[in-house]
Order: sequence, then structure tokens, then C-alpha cells
Amino acid sequence: MSGRFLMGDSNSWTGGAVSALAACVLAPNASPWTLDGTNTWVVGELGGACVVIDPGPLGGGHDAAILAEVEERRSRVAAIVLTHGHIDHSEGADELARRLSVPVRSWSSRTLADSDRIDVGGAELRVLPTPGHSSDSVCFVLDDAILTGDTVLGRGTSLVAHPDGRLSEYLDSLQALSRMCAESGIRQLLPGHGPVIDDPQRVVDYYLRHRLERLEQVRAAVAGGAASAGEVVDLVYADVPPEVRPAAEATVMAQLAYLAESS
Ligand SMILES: [Zn+2]
Repeated sequence: MSGRFLMGDSNSWTGGAVSALAACVLAPNASPWTLDGTNTWVVGELGGACVVIDPGPLGGGHDAAILAEVEERRSRVAAIVLTHGHIDHSEGADELARRLSVPVRSWSSRTLADSDRIDVGGAELRVLPTPGHSSDSVCFVLDDAILTGDTVLGRGTSLVAHPDGRLSEYLDSLQALSRMCAESGIRQLLPGHGPVIDDPQRVVDYYLRHRLERLEQVRAAVAGGAASAGEVVDLVYADVPPEVRPAAEATVMAQLAYLAESS
């Protein structure tokens, strides 16, 4: 597999309902960093309470699209929740919350905690802390699905956003997700960008393998004399397109920090 970060092979993902409980409203912010755009998830039973996960960017009519989806589901928004604070997920949160007079819940504001259960009208979301991509990343377990934010993406692999994101935490989080897929019969991952994943165990285990392989490559590059993150990127991520090179550099810095910690 290539060293692709958030780049996808195609723009075939357009969002929409993926189960009785979850629908994706795709935000109009496609870019090399965001794949097809940010996935805003509306979660809850038809006709009941729902939550909006990651309202995405401000503008572009995205808030109207979210509200149209809520109305189509004859739902009532009880809360807005965030998988993490990166701006492509969170920018529109406060304004939408004001409009709807509902709270915004996030790990960084301490309004989400490990194992919290959020009622979504006939179902519940359970909070699973998964730091690593960022320090405030969480996933949400919904029956046999997990909403993964940027911890696992629908295509390619994600980045560890050094210095806030830490590789040691990311590896632990991927291991926790792998265990959960194996033990809890998880059948779908609903990511923060890109299409739904229907073979969660394989993808999470690939993420783990990929991270460890990259770590070995970085270790070898350093042993071979690479003296800076930029030189390591030149060697290990030679095929990364220029527009996502900063992502490669951030992840290399996270890997160098990890190697320094564990040496
Ligand atoms: Zn992110």
C-alpha cells in the first residue's frame, strides 16, 4: 500500500442513510486533507431523539442540509457531539447548537467521559476514548457499529497530529478497537471521512500493521543517517503528494517522538 494519508482513490462516497439508526450528511469541504468532505452523522431512530455527530464546517449550506436530514427523519436533535476538536469536524458546532438550543458535548470540554452512554431514542451511543490522532479523539459505539471520527478513515490511513497526537496512544487505541471488533461483533465502522467500512477487523488490523511497518521504516531511516523529519519524509514517504506532505511530517515527528520515548 502507498503512503497515502487522507487521499482517496475516487470520489464515490456521497453519504446517505447507512442503517436504520445512522445517516451521513456529507459536508461540502472535499480536499486532499478531508477526502470527499467531513461526514456529519445524524444518529437515532426515525421519529425519535437524535444526535448530530461532527457538524463539520460553517457555511456552504451544510447546516441546512443537516437540518433537512433531521426533518426527513422526523427527529429532534437532543445534542451535538464531537469525535474531536479539529476544525473540519467542529467549526459549525456552536452555531448549530445555538440555533437548536442544544448542548455541544466533547472530550476536551469534559462533557464526554469514558463509557458515557448517550440516549438517541431507542438506541445509545457509548463513548470509547481513542486518543492518538489527536489527544481528544473519541469513538462512539452504536449497536454493532462504531463511529470512528479520524481514528480510522474510510480510505487510506489517518495521521497522528504531533505534538497533540501521540503514536503510543494511537497504537493503544487501534488495539482497543481491534479487540472490540473481535469481541463485540462489530460489523461496520462509520468514519469521519470517506465511505463506511464493512470489514472492520481487517481494516483496523491493517491500520495497526501499517503503523508498525512505518515505524520500522522510520527507525531504519534514522539509523541510516536521516537527521530531520523532512529527511525521513523524503525517504519513507517519497510517494506522498506535496499537498499532504505536512501530514506526513506531523506523523514522522510523532514517530520520532515515540522512538525517543521508547529508546
Ligand atoms: Zn482530525
